[in-house]
Amino acid sequence: MAPRVLDGVAIAATIRKEVAEEVARLGRQGIRPGLAAVLVGNAPASQIYVRSKVEACAELGLFSDLIAPPAEVTTAEMLDLVATLNSRDDIDGILIQLPLPPQVDAKILLEAVAPEKDVDGFHPMNAGRLLAGRPALAPCTPAGIIEILERSGIPVTGQHAVVVGRSDIVGKPVAMLLLHRNATVTICHSKTRSLGEITHQADILVAAIGRAGFITPEMVRLGATLIDVGINRITTREEFDRFFLGDTKRAAVFAKRGSTIVGDIHPQAFEVAGAYTPVPGGVGPLTIAMLMANTVRAAKMRRGL
Ligand code: NDP
Repeated sequence: MAPRVLDGVAIAATIRKEVAEEVARLGRQGIRPGLAAVLVGNAPASQIYVRSKVEACAELGLFSDLIAPPAEVTTAEMLDLVATLNSRDDIDGILIQLPLPPQVDAKILLEAVAPEKDVDGFHPMNAGRLLAGRPALAPCTPAGIIEILERSGIPVTGQHAVVVGRSDIVGKPVAMLLLHRNATVTICHSKTRSLGEITHQADILVAAIGRAGFITPEMVRLGATLIDVGINRITTREEFDRFFLGDTKRAAVFAKRGSTIVGDIHPQAFEVAGAYTPVPGGVGPLTIAMLMANTVRAAKMRRGL
């Protein structure tokens, strides 16, 4: 049977619609959730991400404030900015786009964000609440992965979920969310021995590694659900052929743009799967949708709703 494609674009669109409806409801009570997006410097990728987040706010009816300190901003100046945003009543969520320039201490800064406005879910208070299984603002990408599984009717309880990657942003929090949903969870990383044997046992395999096509077909059990978080840009014909030989549609785009995106799972591994998230169009679209959902949630929680 052909594997099922888990369409992140469609799921994200449904969530965005639900968020817009909730924003309209809150509007009738005189509440407009607001997001502050802080973008330091002018890295092109960060600019694109922040622009999409601000556009999503406008589309869904949230207030947004884009704040762009200069690239040479100091940690002290950033802390002042965060303190101001923490105290502003029109701001429910504070997003600090990473990476920050080297002179800014990202750890100190992320801890300075008021936990109730921490819509990225990076504050240790929210990480701790997540670990303890208490209500928290969960990081957006992991929360999005859970939405994909739940809304696609993929069972999690009792399943063996293998997460490859242990970052604070993706690997660890998604493992916690899966555990709280009664999966049996194994977390793998760069020091894991016999990785392929472990991934082969997965009913649900989450790859958050940051290495193009790292999970190959022989590492995947027939019929498994594959969640590919990776976003890796490839630019050479050799790499393209390694992943997409014979894919004429993608070849045309590659020829025009000179690059394409591949996940952490080799596309051939999808053929072995029962279901999988494509790249692009899988996990990626959920991240912004969940940021919007978190901002509305923060707005409600702050008002005791
Ligand atoms: P990090 O670099 O922070 O973490 C990567 C993890 O992969 C680490 O835990 C590392 O192990 C592990 N790893 C690296 N090499 C190996 C290996 N050979 N075998 C097993 N494990 C390995 O990355 P992120 O978690 O931030 O991101 C992962 C990917 O997801 C990236 O491609 C990123 O672009 C993408 N991403 C996508 C998002 C989206 O919206 N779709 C959002 C966030 C990230 P160790 O800890 O031992 O070093």
